[in-house]
Amino acid sequence: MSQALKIEGLKIEEEGLQKIHDYVESERCSHCGISVKFPGIKLDDDGVCHLCKDEGTRQEIEELRKNLNRQLDEVITKIGKRGDYDCIVAYSGGKDSSMTLLKLTRDYGLNCLAITIDNGFLSDSAIKNCHAFTQELGVDFTMFTPSFGFMRNMYRKSIENKVHSNASAKRASAVCNSCIGLINNHMIKTAISMEVDMIAGGYLGGQVPKDAAVMEMNANNLVRFRESALDHYKMHFGDEAQKFFGIPPHVLEKLGDRTLYVTNPMLGWEYDKEAIIKEISQYGWEKPSDTGQHSSNCRLNDVGIIFHLKESGFHPYETELTDLVRKGFMTREDAIGKLNDIPDLDQYSDVMQKL
Ligand SMILES: [Zn+2]
Repeated sequence: MSQALKIEGLKIEEEGLQKIHDYVESERCSHCGISVKFPGIKLDDDGVCHLCKDEGTRQEIEELRKNLNRQLDEVITKIGKRGDYDCIVAYSGGKDSSMTLLKLTRDYGLNCLAITIDNGFLSDSAIKNCHAFTQELGVDFTMFTPSFGFMRNMYRKSIENKVHSNASAKRASAVCNSCIGLINNHMIKTAISMEVDMIAGGYLGGQVPKDAAVMEMNANNLVRFRESALDHYKMHFGDEAQKFFGIPPHVLEKLGDRTLYVTNPMLGWEYDKEAIIKEISQYGWEKPSDTGQHSSNCRLNDVGIIFHLKESGFHPYETELTDLVRKGFMTREDAIGKLNDIPDLDQYSDVMQKL
């Protein structure tokens, strides 16, 4: 592993490897499996973490989920149908966003436009899935490929410098957080331009803040929100970030006094990975073999995980997977199995070369 980690200046020194080793050996919550290496985690005498103690009863969790689902239903009754589409789906070709697209189209009857951002690291099978799945569903599909020069610089800077807040680092690796920011901005810009009121992503609990099932955005809070983010990204990624993290005034003007709903419907749905794979497989989706342990679409993901681990000392999927355990959608054993299965970078020399 250490050999492959020294390509073109992106290195993991001995200290980083030790951190990864300590993480794998670390003590974990006896209920959800979260590592004590995760910031703020303390176990009580029974080895249970405070997140488990604060989680509430199974009934309360179920009630919360149903409430999120009701919020989604309400949004769907509120959205206007002035443009060509009811909803823009941020579509990665992975299993979760495929399921989101399937349910919104088939079960909710929404006329969706699926948009994929090709970040230069999508696996061949993910791209094949994007085409096959949207065709089978009869959904319009478009792919946006930002210049690779910008993407490469963005990813390198994200790995080398501290670009994101500690709160973001608890939810995803630095490369993922940068990508998510760019994708969100592109979806918002496109939705406003095309006069679409609703955007849907395929994020799960743990990947986004708890209140992200339905976010209402109007012109005022969009300006506030995006402008502070834009300055930050320009500082790290240069002036070109304007294009990928900004919303130009003429676009924003089109929003007028309308409300844009940014949603993550999966937060309100029951989650069963195997059932999802089975269901989307009926629509031409095939399980990729060329991506890695934690992503069904992106080859950069595992590399991001390694650099996150060596920097922070905990796994970027810690929140997401242990959240699924707490909600009863995954066993503790399965979650720990995934978290301790550290990607082997020897298998990602193509990704490292491109970076
Ligand atoms: Zn716990």
